[in-house]
Amino acid sequence: MRITKKVFNDLAIFMLLLGVAVGVVFPFFVALFNVPASIAFQPLFFIACIGAGMLLAAMNIGLARKTVGTRIKHLSHKMKHVEEILAAMGCETGCTTCTPETCHIPVDSEDELGESAESFNRLITTLSEVLGARSNLQQFSEMLTSHLELDALAQNTLESLIANAKASGGAILIENSGEFTTQAVLALKNEKALETNALVLHVMQTQERYLVAFPQDVIMDGLIADYRPQALIIEPVIYKQVLLGVIILASIAPFSSKTLDMLTTCAPILSMAFYNAITHQQMQRLAALDSLTGIYNRRFGYNRIQEEFSRSIRSAASLSLIMLDIDHFKVVNDTYGHIVGDKIIVSITKTILGAIREGDLLIRYGGEEFLCVLPGANQHDANLIAERIRIMIGDSVLKHNDQEIKVTVSLGTATYPNKDISDIQQFINLADDAMYNAKKMGRNRVVSV
Ligand code: GH3
Ligand code: MG
Ligand code: MG
Repeated sequence: MRITKKVFNDLAIFMLLLGVAVGVVFPFFVALFNVPASIAFQPLFFIACIGAGMLLAAMNIGLARKTVGTRIKHLSHKMKHVEEILAAMGCETGCTTCTPETCHIPVDSEDELGESAESFNRLITTLSEVLGARSNLQQFSEMLTSHLELDALAQNTLESLIANAKASGGAILIENSGEFTTQAVLALKNEKALETNALVLHVMQTQERYLVAFPQDVIMDGLIADYRPQALIIEPVIYKQVLLGVIILASIAPFSSKTLDMLTTCAPILSMAFYNAITHQQMQRLAALDSLTGIYNRRFGYNRIQEEFSRSIRSAASLSLIMLDIDHFKVVNDTYGHIVGDKIIVSITKTILGAIREGDLLIRYGGEEFLCVLPGANQHDANLIAERIRIMIGDSVLKHNDQEIKVTVSLGTATYPNKDISDIQQFINLADDAMYNAKKMGRNRVVSV
């Protein structure tokens, strides 16, 4: 039953009416206890009783305002504050978070008011968690979409997931023709072994998340000593039903259901980001590599030589080039056909790769011409390597229909620093000239500038 628009005003009216009613009834009540009628029904006594009833009512109203009103006011004040914070959390950057200290209200009674305060606090906690998760997901999505290079994407994804899942370490393995290669790793000791780990291969087959308690074959790299994790998640990264890789997270405590939910929520955007990065890497490879031999093509190789050349100028280190051309290759093609010719080119590529060091580059510079780039190698080193290549190729035999095919190569070397080299084109021309001198001098030899 409402009289005015304010609850406390209604309460005040009811209380005052009750006070008046009590004041009117009280003289009759005291008359029952043999108070003489001359006193009980005296107008002054009536007025005093009504006055006392109204005074009591006024005091009740005051107390109700103080005890209930302040709490309700506090609740409304907090709600307003929370509303402001929540509105701010919808902002793009620098969002404020709602903590129990800033948003909760004290629960100091065990009645309905205390229950409402508790419900309010629970609501705030849940809301904060939901908004916090939303904000994390937003940041995570931004990170995923801002990286196209697979290495950077894998590293950043792993760091974010470890932080969000409160894990201690992990790895990201990328699948390639049925095999895994480690793309990123943090605080795991035996990550290479993970590539062939039975649990990981199991996830590859089932394409489903695998939770392992006390995994046997995983070792964490601790600050003081190595240790074994208590829990492991192996999460497949699947895009359009194709497995792209797996994410491994290791923890010293079991993973919470919130972490598992977080992984499920992130899965679609995460797999799309990895699909884009893998596609990007494949396209870059296609643009950079020669399709027959798999080594750098001339265009991409030229850029790499430029990089190495700039680096040796900066660090005042020597740099050598070996230009190599197969001798009388037209005859080989004419005799055995182009397909056999191609096989010889592939075989020579492997031989050269086996003869040079890891930091050296091999470029297919022309049809049957190769250019080796040897950072740090002086003229003596370059000649030794070129001679080694010449002998290895001259000694190798390609079998074709019971026939044994042998080819020889002519090699020219050039080394920077050299007064005639001021740019890479001059550098390459010098190596080329040396190679042509080797041809002129009878082939199957090394000539240096
Ligand atoms: P030289 O000793 O003077 O180098 O004689 P050569 O016959 O090798 O002459 P040249 O270096 O000019 O040879 C180029 C020949 O290499 C032309 C072509 O038949 C062959 N060739 C170039 N690219 C390829 C290729 O991709 N596959 C095959 N099978 N042959 C190629
Ligand atoms: Mg040639
Ligand atoms: Mg040739």
